[in-house]
Amino acid sequence: MLFHKVLRASLRAGIRLQSSSAAAASATSHSSHATSQGFSFELTEQQKEFQQLARKFAREEVLPVAPEYDKSGEYPVPLIKKAWELGLMNGHIPQEYGGIGLSAFDNCLITEEMAYACTGVQTAIEANSLGAMPVILAGNEAQKTKYLGRLVEEPLMCAYCVTEPGAGSDVAGLKTRAEKKGDEYVVNGQKMWITNGGKANWYFLLARTNPDPKCPTGKAFTGFILEADTPGITIGRKEMNMGQRCSDTRGITFEDVRIPKENVLITEGAGFKIAMGAFDSTRPPVAAGATGLAQRALDEATNYAMERKTFGKVIAEHQAVSFLLAEMAMKVELARMAYQRAAWEVDQGRRNTYYASIAKAFAGDIANQVATDAVQVFGGNGFNSDYPVEKLMRDAKIYQIYEGTAQIQRLIIAREHLGRARK
Ligand SMILES: Cc1cc2nc3c(=O)[nH]c(=O)nc-3n(C[C@H](O)[C@H](O)[C@H](O)COP(=O)(O)OP(=O)(O)OC[C@H]3O[C@@H](n4cnc5c(N)ncnc54)[C@H](O)[C@@H]3O)c2cc1C
Repeated sequence: MLFHKVLRASLRAGIRLQSSSAAAASATSHSSHATSQGFSFELTEQQKEFQQLARKFAREEVLPVAPEYDKSGEYPVPLIKKAWELGLMNGHIPQEYGGIGLSAFDNCLITEEMAYACTGVQTAIEANSLGAMPVILAGNEAQKTKYLGRLVEEPLMCAYCVTEPGAGSDVAGLKTRAEKKGDEYVVNGQKMWITNGGKANWYFLLARTNPDPKCPTGKAFTGFILEADTPGITIGRKEMNMGQRCSDTRGITFEDVRIPKENVLITEGAGFKIAMGAFDSTRPPVAAGATGLAQRALDEATNYAMERKTFGKVIAEHQAVSFLLAEMAMKVELARMAYQRAAWEVDQGRRNTYYASIAKAFAGDIANQVATDAVQVFGGNGFNSDYPVEKLMRDAKIYQIYEGTAQIQRLIIAREHLGRARK
């Protein structure tokens, strides 16, 4: 415990040094990144350290217990606590609020490593970034100090409550209502598929504040911070999902839930932009997670192919299998470059919607292809839960669904692409 605290403190100190020397190069609110100095694929020494720390923890402590958590569906509390102690969680929280203030790029390096071991654990951890991002981007001083500070002081979770039973992709169709009554808002409605829904200490909540159906989407919704123990909140059962089973996904019902007006983000009507804007920062780590899973599938398939023999030779020596591995390797490398580019754009303070959706769509798709191919390389063993790849195939699917489906990413990419072409 003491060791972890010391490590976390020294990581923070190291980052402070790095950020002050890079400060001149950075006019953005995010920490600067060494690659802003020029085009380079080389990680800094410090980035290698984060990567190694995350890799060691993920491979030595998460990976061996991941199958058990997959079977039981139990929330991985000891792993989350340890990740928090090591500084491998909430890395995005700025130093002013007690966090480590890592760049988007550095956070993604950590996410990829965690996902390599178990994307169920990684999603539970990553959901904190999603829940906290609207507060980081749009919170005032008091809100940031209170709610981000809490996540730094204790290993607490938060959640992002947007999707509803009747509306996921079509966010404009949300029905949850928040009505202003005096100094409070009274919320009624229902959310669905909320990661960390049953574990969160507080939520980011998006609700409709303008009932007029003609009100433009960009003005009809408000973003709130909501304490999870507020009366009127009923948390649904833990959903039994295809994969990432130790991550906690739930529906939540709100009945006359009162939120003080101090908990409105920016102002009434600003919620849609805040909720959607967060994705530019959170889609690169989702893509990094998908890349970590794909890298694991590739490694498992490669090791197996170099041991399993058929027709007198290891299957890696059959050209059909080696070409499959080559295709898998190509996809993993390109997905990594896509998430790194998308994260790097965030760190430059530039609008990265185009790159974030490309990375999310591509990495989500290739995670599914590569995991499916890994099962193929394993043959019959691949279909069995005594081997690691069937879990990877189940876990991969969600990367094409949450934080905007594969189809919605293509809509965004097409819109951005055509927008540029028309300029
Ligand atoms: C495990 C899990 C965790 C999640 N975590 C969270 C969370 O923490 N917070 C949160 O708010 N939400 C969360 N979600 C919700 C997730 O973001 C939504 O499920 C997702 O956005 C899709 O919405 P939907 O399920 O309503 O599908 P729908 O929107 O009904 O889509 C159904 C299908 O139609 C396609 N489609 C829809 N519209 C179009 C279109 N215009 N053009 C082409 N195709 C289209 C979709 O791509 C999809 O294939 C989670 C979901 C799951 C399963």
